[in-house]
Amino acid sequence: MKESVGTTGLILNEPFLWDKGRKGRCGFSLPRRDVESVPLDEELRGEGPDFPDLSEVDVVRHYTRLSQWNFGVDTGMYPLGSCTMKYSPKTNERQASLPGFAEAHPMLPPSLSQGVLRMMFELEQYLAEITGMDATTLQPAAGAHGELTGMLLIHAFHKSKGSQRSKIIVPDTAHGTNPASAALCSYCSVPVKSNEQGILSVEAIAEVMDEDTAGIMITNPNTLGFFEENSRKIAGIVHAKGGLVYCDGANMNAVMGIVHMGKIGVDVMHLNLHKTFSTPHGGGGPGSGPVCVKKELEPFLPVPRVVKEKERYVLSGDYPESIGKVQAFHGNVGVTIKAYSYIRSMGAKNLKKASRLAVLNANYIKESLKGTLHLPYDRPCMHECVFSDELQKDDNVTTLDMAKRLMEYGFHPPTVYFPLVVHGAIMIEPTETESKEDIDQFIEAFKAIVSEARQNPDLLYDAPRRCKVRRLDEVTAARKPCLAG
Ligand SMILES: *Cc1c(COP(=O)(O)O)cnc(C)c1O
Repeated sequence: MKESVGTTGLILNEPFLWDKGRKGRCGFSLPRRDVESVPLDEELRGEGPDFPDLSEVDVVRHYTRLSQWNFGVDTGMYPLGSCTMKYSPKTNERQASLPGFAEAHPMLPPSLSQGVLRMMFELEQYLAEITGMDATTLQPAAGAHGELTGMLLIHAFHKSKGSQRSKIIVPDTAHGTNPASAALCSYCSVPVKSNEQGILSVEAIAEVMDEDTAGIMITNPNTLGFFEENSRKIAGIVHAKGGLVYCDGANMNAVMGIVHMGKIGVDVMHLNLHKTFSTPHGGGGPGSGPVCVKKELEPFLPVPRVVKEKERYVLSGDYPESIGKVQAFHGNVGVTIKAYSYIRSMGAKNLKKASRLAVLNANYIKESLKGTLHLPYDRPCMHECVFSDELQKDDNVTTLDMAKRLMEYGFHPPTVYFPLVVHGAIMIEPTETESKEDIDQFIEAFKAIVSEARQNPDLLYDAPRRCKVRRLDEVTAARKPCLAG
């Protein structure tokens, strides 16, 4: 095996700090005492916490070693499809930690938080412009929360028309959060299959759309990495029956500033700032899932909203049809600052370029690995491509075996077994931030693994051997998590 970066470092076993501690060891030294010593009153002092006695170097090594057991975009390529694990420039973190932002209390009066309010006001406009929508709320805390907010907006819209509806159309390629968000809003989801090209057909929607259907949730680009080319016609059908079109825009990284969602019939959509707009993610948050809407849904947006009165920014709750608050205060503001900083530092031209590069990189991988891996839908993709383990069937090697072996080459595995419509799916999203050299190394690693599968499959069955943990029993890990180590 060719040695790759990231596979040869020391991975040291690291005990708990409690096991490392030695009585009397100390992390600091004080000058010699020049006053009489007086024993502390035991009663007053009590037992005290059971902290281990450690030196400074004990502590620094402990945490540095633990950090090395981790893998992130700062360590190497992380081609996790659907998740957009791209590199987030550090300057955006720096802007978010500027004292004026970081120390702004959400309960300060608007007169003392003009900077934050202006940032929010402008970011709402930028996001509306990037998506081709009319207005934005920054309150939702994540993508799924944005979906729920969108469902509540659709619900409020139908209520205002005097008739409530009971169903929502959700395609089979949707992220699992889509039907869950619809259900939270009491909608019954109506599943629709995508066609042989991996996208929605106009006929399939025409068949199920009726006057008891509140709308449709379309993921665009979808989770097979394809652009939903029939969006505008589908929207026409849904609108004709009084329904609305929700777009799951978690994959906006492929089309920033390129697709005018409003023009292709989208009424409401969410974005994942923690995927597309420079917030690192994967560790559980915080995230942000702003929702952009067309004019007809603006009256229902969550309050308070930031409005500009003359040259001042104020918070207004004066929207009688609003669905109310969906998050404490103003959402996860720290994440929105990073998005603001990212958009300002990139500029319109470079946001488009980033999307184009993300699409180019994914197509490069698709073309380079086609034949090595089975490509169920052989057509140009957007920001990600989906293969399967079909060609490895005869070698008795599965997607999981290849993914585990990839770790020994220094790469985070791609998304596996999703989307569900592809059996044994391997979903690769390189993102725009990878260089051609790194992508070539990844392609080479995959090719090497596929030939190992033929010649020496034990290498795959045993993988990963050099990682901190081997193959986890994922079911037990989820059911009985052992968080102590
Ligand atoms: C990530 C993702 C979501 C959910 O976003 P969260 O922030 O994890 O709630 C929804 N839809 C798609 C297509 C996604 O990729």
